[in-house]
Amino acid sequence: MTKIVSHTFFYGGSKMKNKIKHTTSNMAKNLTHEQLIEVANEFGTPVYVYHAERIAAQYKKLQKGFAGCNARFFYACKSLTNVNILKYIHSIGASLDCVSINEVKLGLMAGFAPKDILYTPNCVDFEEIVAVKELGVNINIDNISILEQFGNNFGSSYPVCIRLNPHIMAGGNYKISTGHIDSKFGISIHQMRHIERIVKTTKLNVTGIHMHTGSEIKDINVFLEGLAVMFELASHFPNLEFIDLGSGFKVPYQPGDAETDVNALGEKVAIAFQEFEKETGRKLQVWFEPGKYLVSQCGYFVVKANVIKQTPAAVFVGVNSGFNHLIRPMMYDAYHHIENISNPKGAERIYTIVGNICETDTFAWDRKLNEVREGDYLVFYNAGAYGFEMSSNFNSRLKPAEVMVIDGKAKLIRKKDEFEDLLKNQVI
Ligand SMILES: *Cc1c(COP(=O)(O)O)cnc(C)c1O
Repeated sequence: MTKIVSHTFFYGGSKMKNKIKHTTSNMAKNLTHEQLIEVANEFGTPVYVYHAERIAAQYKKLQKGFAGCNARFFYACKSLTNVNILKYIHSIGASLDCVSINEVKLGLMAGFAPKDILYTPNCVDFEEIVAVKELGVNINIDNISILEQFGNNFGSSYPVCIRLNPHIMAGGNYKISTGHIDSKFGISIHQMRHIERIVKTTKLNVTGIHMHTGSEIKDINVFLEGLAVMFELASHFPNLEFIDLGSGFKVPYQPGDAETDVNALGEKVAIAFQEFEKETGRKLQVWFEPGKYLVSQCGYFVVKANVIKQTPAAVFVGVNSGFNHLIRPMMYDAYHHIENISNPKGAERIYTIVGNICETDTFAWDRKLNEVREGDYLVFYNAGAYGFEMSSNFNSRLKPAEVMVIDGKAKLIRKKDEFEDLLKNQVI
């Protein structure tokens, strides 16, 4: 086990790059229970812990899988925006996908060049789009009315990407599927005539078309179907430089779960682009926007068992957290694997894990855990993406600290909230 030493940190980009090269050999290994316990002891619980090298390993997998394509990867930072994570992701060479002007500003702070940032907002007003344009980043427009205003104001002077809705149902979960007919996202491909009218009248310079059909897509044919639609539409845009296929890369949450096969997908995408080039003479880049794929598995959420509570129905473990810190189980019925890291040799018992919030906040029903005693640490896996990021101060509870383990060292990258944070912005 690598020794964990803590110190405050902030690091520069180039030095980091060299380091990463040295540590990539065994980087995909999970953090051990001992490492997580050390972090919990040092920084307290609940605490989010991120394993930097795991992010690099995921990025490497994507690069390898799509080596046959002219591919670029824009990390969808809404999944985890801590600026230290952004800096790290910049240091390994990825670009950035942002959904708000504030994410764009965080990205610029973290060192991303404007040309390496893509802004993909949804239902924001034109003023925000103009403000982001002034920052010089790539802009993705997902609404006819905004497209028209953008064309009227800026014409051909600023390139744009258009987010299209290909009306493909991706994955099984309606809530996290964004390309179907009822979805608010994108401009329908059936509005192509209207898009063309706006582009022609305002001389818009459309350099990209984009689709993002949802999250957790295991079936690579969903991407390929979407890509076929995009190729068809490419003929409408003579200035096209790239096709953005968004994200949807699935990662395993349950033991035995599958991950999107990026090698198989990469191979097929490469062939599709080669064929497109042969037929049309056009050489296009392919862009992707992985969020979960890069940061889900790097993250661990460590909590403490406050109480064991036996009722007529179940044995509850009440932990010192709730949906104020990790809301995916309650919001999406998401499965997070849970282990008792304090008593790994204890006999297995069946527990229902709940939070300490005055609301029904069940993390998991009927899980086998090594016997849980009050005070034990439990870990939630896959906590990197949409974990801390969706946290709140509900019940006037404090948001947890975030810690990054890099090169075997644990570093605090966000202090936990203090009582005063609850009063910030309140007028007293
Ligand atoms: C959320 C989002 C992503 C990332 O999705 P993941 O499932 O986390 O990979 C990518 N692109 C856009 C436009 C998004 O809104």
